[in-house]
Amino acid sequence: MDFLILFLFYLALVLIGGVTICICSKAHYLKVLVKGAAQMISHMIPEYLQRAVLKLLHYLFHTRNHTFIILHLLLQGMIYAEYTWEIFGYCLELGFSLRYLLLPYLLLVINLVFFMLSCVSNPGTITKANEFLFLQAYEFNAMTFPKNMKCFTCNVRKPARSKHCSVCDRCVHRFDHHCVWVNNCIGAWNARYFLIYLLTLAASAATMATVSTMLLVQLVVLSDLYLETYVDDLGHLQVIDIVFLIQYLFLTLPRIVFMLGFVVMLSFLLGGYLCFTLYLTATNQTTNEWYRGDRAWCRHCPRVVAWPRSAEPQVSRNIHSRGLWSNLGEIFLPDTAHRAKKMN
Ligand SMILES: [Zn+2]
Ligand SMILES: [Zn+2]
Repeated sequence: MDFLILFLFYLALVLIGGVTICICSKAHYLKVLVKGAAQMISHMIPEYLQRAVLKLLHYLFHTRNHTFIILHLLLQGMIYAEYTWEIFGYCLELGFSLRYLLLPYLLLVINLVFFMLSCVSNPGTITKANEFLFLQAYEFNAMTFPKNMKCFTCNVRKPARSKHCSVCDRCVHRFDHHCVWVNNCIGAWNARYFLIYLLTLAASAATMATVSTMLLVQLVVLSDLYLETYVDDLGHLQVIDIVFLIQYLFLTLPRIVFMLGFVVMLSFLLGGYLCFTLYLTATNQTTNEWYRGDRAWCRHCPRVVAWPRSAEPQVSRNIHSRGLWSNLGEIFLPDTAHRAKKMN
């Protein structure tokens, strides 16, 4: 029982932590809190260890490296190995439809293709040769993307909605964010690959969670376990309840239950992030713009909105949004990519 409670506590903590970070990531007090915690820890840890940790963090998050790609493939490999080794075999024996059982493999193939594309594709790097093409893509606005700005590192004129990625050391058109998991920037030209990658990853986690749950339910039903009784610590006869069942399954099928816990957690985290990305796609915003709270001159109500985003939301439209289908088209069929191909 202790182990089950600890595991559920751990699961809840990770989920609450993830959601809190998402909600509070823009809040000033979180930065103050992190700074305060870092200062407190710095008094407790020796200086050489601090330097080593900072060096490691810098390497992991501020340089281009393959660490997270390897970790990603390792985790995915482990989950699929467990699925193939135990769940697939059990389900076949219990007469599950082969079509449902093969679905995670189909999603894996699509996911790996789009994972690779997200890793290696050009996100829309701005160079001297193509800067004119990107400068024409979006309108400038005085507040967030002023005209005639220059990136002194790349020596290019900065198009609207672009940003210099300090990790990749380049300016990227319609910069969304730098993703450590694909070791690449997400920009105008590869946002579509990233979206499908995310969609298939979330779908494969959800599919595996569903199949694993169905297997455990089927095992409980077939064994009539829920009809059994047990003697509790006080010597009383008790009917088996859901908590006892989970504990029993944990002890008899630990790998499957642990994997189920992991994929359920992944399904929630990836599902949440997918919803956020779909919201940005549907409203034609980038993560960078959302984070900065950008709202420029509203076409339909010409007034400037406070920037950074004020407590009171004043404008519901941004100047780049042209309706759902048009916004989706911008992600899946980026005009600049088409025109750049023509130029080459
Ligand atoms: Zn630059
Ligand atoms: Zn980057």
